[in-house]
Amino acid sequence: MTAIDTPVLIVGAGPVGLATAYVLGRHGVPSLVCEKFDGVNPHPRAHVLTLRTMEILRDWGLADKVLDEAVGPEWKNVLWRTTFSGEELGRIVLPTESQEHLDFVSPVSTTSCAQDRVQQILLDAVHEQGVAEVRFGTEIIDVDDKGDVVHAQLLKAGNVAESVAARYAVLAHGASGLLRDRLAIDMDGIPEFGRQINVYFHADLTRWTDNDPALLVWLLNTAAPGGMIGMDGKRRWTYNFGYDPDTESVADYTRARCADLIRQAIGDDDVEIDVQSIGTWRLASRIARTYRTGNIFLAGDAAHEFPPTGGLGMNTGIADAHNIAWKLAGTLNGWAPESLLSTYESERKPVAESNAEFSVHNALKMAECGLGPTTEAIASLLESGNAATAAAERARLAEAIPRQRDHFGSVDQEIGHIYGTDCAPIAPIYPHSRGVVGGRPVHRWITRAGRRVSTLDLTISGFTLIAGPDGMAWVGAFEQAATGIPHQVLVMDRDIDTGGEDPFGIAECGAVLIRPDGHIGWRAEARSGTSVVDLAQALDKIFGAHQLIS
Ligand SMILES: Cc1cc2nc3c(=O)[nH]c(=O)nc-3n(C[C@H](O)[C@H](O)[C@H](O)COP(=O)(O)OP(=O)(O)OC[C@H]3O[C@@H](n4cnc5c(N)ncnc54)[C@H](O)[C@@H]3O)c2cc1C
Repeated sequence: MTAIDTPVLIVGAGPVGLATAYVLGRHGVPSLVCEKFDGVNPHPRAHVLTLRTMEILRDWGLADKVLDEAVGPEWKNVLWRTTFSGEELGRIVLPTESQEHLDFVSPVSTTSCAQDRVQQILLDAVHEQGVAEVRFGTEIIDVDDKGDVVHAQLLKAGNVAESVAARYAVLAHGASGLLRDRLAIDMDGIPEFGRQINVYFHADLTRWTDNDPALLVWLLNTAAPGGMIGMDGKRRWTYNFGYDPDTESVADYTRARCADLIRQAIGDDDVEIDVQSIGTWRLASRIARTYRTGNIFLAGDAAHEFPPTGGLGMNTGIADAHNIAWKLAGTLNGWAPESLLSTYESERKPVAESNAEFSVHNALKMAECGLGPTTEAIASLLESGNAATAAAERARLAEAIPRQRDHFGSVDQEIGHIYGTDCAPIAPIYPHSRGVVGGRPVHRWITRAGRRVSTLDLTISGFTLIAGPDGMAWVGAFEQAATGIPHQVLVMDRDIDTGGEDPFGIAECGAVLIRPDGHIGWRAEARSGTSVVDLAQALDKIFGAHQLIS
């Protein structure tokens, strides 16, 4: 056997690589994170954190830190304007679903926080844990799965090469990482349907936003169309617009030219613009044919790329990390069989497929409001010298804009993920349901040790069995079935007070098993004469070993 330098090698310190290291750290599993750049990428891209991501961050104890860096709740407007300071063509006010419903379904809210800040919070948390090592300025140039070990070649500053041996590797190297291609893992889907430039700048736009804080402004004019996103509700903004790679290159967009374009997009020649960085990205909708080759796993944008219409890229990646990390930890710590690792792809890939479909649907629908190839045509009609033509286009937009509501918030898409079903991976969230096996439990405020907590707060870095008030038989059975597996047991009315409600759907004598990632792994609604066997089979099924049971 080759000596192992690290149990898990993680390629890339983007949000997904750092989240993977953090969850492994919660399980006490060391990892080595290698990032080719010298630090956290300061160029913000993502900003929307869905309900599920905020629930996960709450579980990790990081949600409050994110909220400290997020825009305030008053930044709730999505606007369509001719220019940033120009005429309003329509608006959608967030959230798009009633606050009452949202408060009922989750203890958290969808939030907008710049990606670089999320990454810094994750990096600080990883450092504070002290379990993972993060090496910046270190590129992984090759990975090779040898069965019981993954060999990787590192290139450090000054072109110094080094080899590392890991038990497992997670490629979280984003959409442009090269290792996935080196492993000959194909991507299925639409490789490209447009290119975008993303300019990160600082500016004081308060004279327009003070009275009308706009998180996102779509700009419909012929000179400088695109979208502007407020990254911190203060001075940090991005301006995003399409370009044609056949006729121009990113290098054509100098800082001075971008500043000029931004002034035109704002509609004010005098506003001071401080361009920080210029990025580019390819609009694609692609999913890796396989999420695993040997002991190497893909996560985040390395595994799936969506158009940003829906804001699901980073969110899906963080949930990938949440899924793969406890499985790697269980396998490495010896309490789960290797078969558990094969459930990563079968659980996460259908979610990526659904999120890709949702994002593409949004992108196509947004075409009627000027996203993509229609921008120029719509802007020209709005600027037409023919007053009737311009007015007709304004009237059409006024009708089309409200139809985009689903794009800006879908509770089902955000928290309705169901693992292990043969049908749709996303289920509708009904306010009064009791959750389904494979999904997350429903949220209810309950009392535990005198404290008000959410049902979602009961998860630990192990399994949680929750038994009904008369379900003690399940408790004894679980202690037997879960020998060697980290776990806790909670009994309703003894350990938690649900106020007479049955949020887990277990009645008086049943029980529910919550996995380390907070998904329901199994449930019984009544007593059973074979409870130890039932629970052993449930664990086998969760561990992907059920096919071994004769
Ligand atoms: C304009 C825009 C807006 C977006 N908005 C949203 C949004 O609102 N919500 C959302 O969820 N998503 C959004 N996204 C998508 C989101 O930015 C990505 O999904 C997210 O960055 C993916 O994270 P990741 O960790 O998988 O990859 P990345 O963030 O790309 O990180 C990968 C890291 O790996 C490093 N790396 C690559 N190769 C190597 C190597 N060989 N060795 C070492 N290091 C390597 C890279 O330097 C990089 O730091 C948006 C994207 C764009 C472009």
